[in-house]
Amino acid sequence: MSENYEQEIETFIQQVFEQNYEELRLESGQAVAPDVRQTALNQVLFYWRKLRAIAEGVTDTEVHLSLPQQETPGGREYAIEGVVDILREAGRTVMYDIKTHDADYARANLKFYEQQLNVYAHIWQELRQQELDEMAVIATDYPEAVKEALASGDLAHLAYALDQWEPVVPIAYDPHRVQATIAEFGAVVDCIEENRFNPRSVQDLNTVLPGTRSIRFATRVCRNCDARYSCAAYRQYAWQPGYRGVAESKLRHIYGEELADAVQEQWRTAGLDAAPDDSGLRADY
Ligand code: SF4
Repeated sequence: MSENYEQEIETFIQQVFEQNYEELRLESGQAVAPDVRQTALNQVLFYWRKLRAIAEGVTDTEVHLSLPQQETPGGREYAIEGVVDILREAGRTVMYDIKTHDADYARANLKFYEQQLNVYAHIWQELRQQELDEMAVIATDYPEAVKEALASGDLAHLAYALDQWEPVVPIAYDPHRVQATIAEFGAVVDCIEENRFNPRSVQDLNTVLPGTRSIRFATRVCRNCDARYSCAAYRQYAWQPGYRGVAESKLRHIYGEELADAVQEQWRTAGLDAAPDDSGLRADY
């Protein structure tokens, strides 16, 4: 393929990404900070550069899988649904589940991914009566080494880091675990329906997650949780003596201290920069 073709495809990806982002922004009324948007675009571009053979070979995109009429331990009816990509090539069928997680984390927490994909494989093979030879998660969050190479601006360093990155995580199919997983999903449905939303313990929040060097549960999970400002466990975590986290220290200001004018101004500017024009500020959502 010519260099021109590569450039054309990447330009196309960027245009479609911007168009998608704009539609989502107008639909949801929410904008994201420029650095977050750039990270999301990088994930799409690197997915293309790194896994082009898979991206071009996928024969069925966004296949909806559904397991209806399940019953929770509490007697409620519910359905399990998922979306996967299917690649059929040379007589083999592979199922891919794309996740915005990082591959090291996925490898260290394989059990969670196996549970989900085992149910999808069950639907695909048993209910749809389709062949399946392999399954894998594609983890699109690029690793620290790629982030560092990007920040350095050194193209050779970036090429090396991308070469080392292995975002495809194979998953084994184990039909014996499918029913146990479905039962676990059912128990979660009961918790939701009964408004049982107990937070994790502060000890859990302090735990370094497997597959990471030093990322705690609170940093990876709670920081993305909409309930964190009203979560007792997270409040306790953020206030704990001796903790030096950067993002969480900002939270302490929200809870009980005056926020410096300069910091407030930084936040305001980031929010305004995220809006390409003033229509979002005037919109009545
Ligand atoms: S902040 Fe959210 S994810 Fe973290 S413990 Fe509280 S409810 Fe759970």
